Amino acid sequence: MRFLMKFGGTSVADAQCIRRVVDILEQHHKAGDELAVVVSARRGVTDQLIEVATKLPVAKDDTAIAPLIQALSTQHMTMLEGAAPAHIAEVGAAIEDQLIKLQNILFAIYNLRELTPRSKDYIISFGERLLAPILAAAIRERGIPSMAMDGCEAGILTTPQHGESTALHESDDRIKTKIGPMLGKQIPVIMGFMGCTREGILTTLGRSGSDYSASILGAGIDADEIWIWTDVDGIMTCDPRVINDARVMRSLSYLEVMELSYFGAKVMHPRSIEPAMRKNILVRVKNTFNPSHPGTVIVRNGQRDNRVVKALTYIDKVAAININGAQMIGRPGVAKAIFTILADHEVNVMMISQGSSEANISLIVDESHLSAAVDALAVLVKQGIVREVSHNHDVCAVAVVGAGMAGAPGTGGRIFTSLGAAGVNVMMISQGSSEANISFVVSQSDGPRAVRVLHDEFQLSEESDE
Ligand code: ADP
Ligand code: ASP
Ligand code: MG
Repeated sequence: MRFLMKFGGTSVADAQCIRRVVDILEQHHKAGDELAVVVSARRGVTDQLIEVATKLPVAKDDTAIAPLIQALSTQHMTMLEGAAPAHIAEVGAAIEDQLIKLQNILFAIYNLRELTPRSKDYIISFGERLLAPILAAAIRERGIPSMAMDGCEAGILTTPQHGESTALHESDDRIKTKIGPMLGKQIPVIMGFMGCTREGILTTLGRSGSDYSASILGAGIDADEIWIWTDVDGIMTCDPRVINDARVMRSLSYLEVMELSYFGAKVMHPRSIEPAMRKNILVRVKNTFNPSHPGTVIVRNGQRDNRVVKALTYIDKVAAININGAQMIGRPGVAKAIFTILADHEVNVMMISQGSSEANISLIVDESHLSAAVDALAVLVKQGIVREVSHNHDVCAVAVVGAGMAGAPGTGGRIFTSLGAAGVNVMMISQGSSEANISFVVSQSDGPRAVRVLHDEFQLSEESDE
């Protein structure tokens, strides 16, 4: 079989974790499987890089740089020593080389007092740059040829949208040419989270983007299966940190996973299903720390069962924008003006609802896009197209997902009746046209309770015959 296996930051947290990852790879290699690997940064490193990089342009001095470089050096050298002792000299020098590059760019950001999207992308790619050579060396340590390469070298071409780029379809052929000949002869270890534009400028694919890298590369090499290795047994009925008796699901459809990840299930990057779906490749989510568990299988048509609702998500980092104005009544083109101006400012609208009087349109956006959205919409107030734009941070979005909801009457009634009985006030409702999702907005303090009520109402903790 040909596999693309991706290991997340939680799977490569220390030397012992890396050895565990290599055990898994070695076992498949010995069984005659062809393997390509995608790896993320060590857990927490991308966050650290973002924090330091964003503070530097306004920092009063550059003292944050040295401790970061020192900490990264210690963490990665310790991992290298524990996971690939025979390769310390050569790989250690490569790590130090990367750290010098990182240090130089950080000083440049401080001195210039400017962090552009392009330089930010370059900086935040260093977590993967530091980790991948260690994993490749740990594989070589077991006598299996392996080499680390970055996303661009592996053939991933993207749009130039820094921080949230999308892979271009022409990546497929490039990946096939670059990675195809290596398969079976060695295990290439590809740095997740990044690609480059046609001009060769580095881009990143958005937070958690290594899942997306895995799917792009899996599609490029025509993998039989894409395996996403993480720290839980599979995709669960809800975030286990919110619902402690959340259950691992055996099977989901591509559509269901897209709805879940789009609405915040952190276990997968929102765009990571599309490349696999395009090539109809089975995706499996598995636990590095419990590899014998079958995990969750994601295919075109997940197994049908009599459950209409399969899973729930909950995102609290969202904000509501209310656009009011009687001018909107019966006036064609107002919605177009709103969405065009938001798209021009790269604001991603997660949910939309329009009152039947047409005097009000409400939107849900990611909290990080709120100020850009509000500033952009102020122009429409000035132009007299809308009267007023207000916003509310104290909200969260909950999504109820299940392909079986399409055409099953009564699910909406059940959702909102049980919420009403629990005293949860619903501020906004939206149903996607796929009918695999009903999402709604409640105040932030009601969010966890809303999810708990629905998890119980649809008995999601109980095994079904999925
Ligand atoms: P990785 O480093 O492997 O990419 P992440 O931290 O990005 O791991 O994703 C795995 C985590 O996602 C889990 O530890 C879990 O806490 C969280 N999570 C949120 N929602 C879900 C869900 N529905 N199913 C499983 N895990 C979820
Ligand atoms: N390291 C990146 C992040 O933390 C990508 C990933 O982990 O998938 O977002
Ligand atoms: Mg992840």
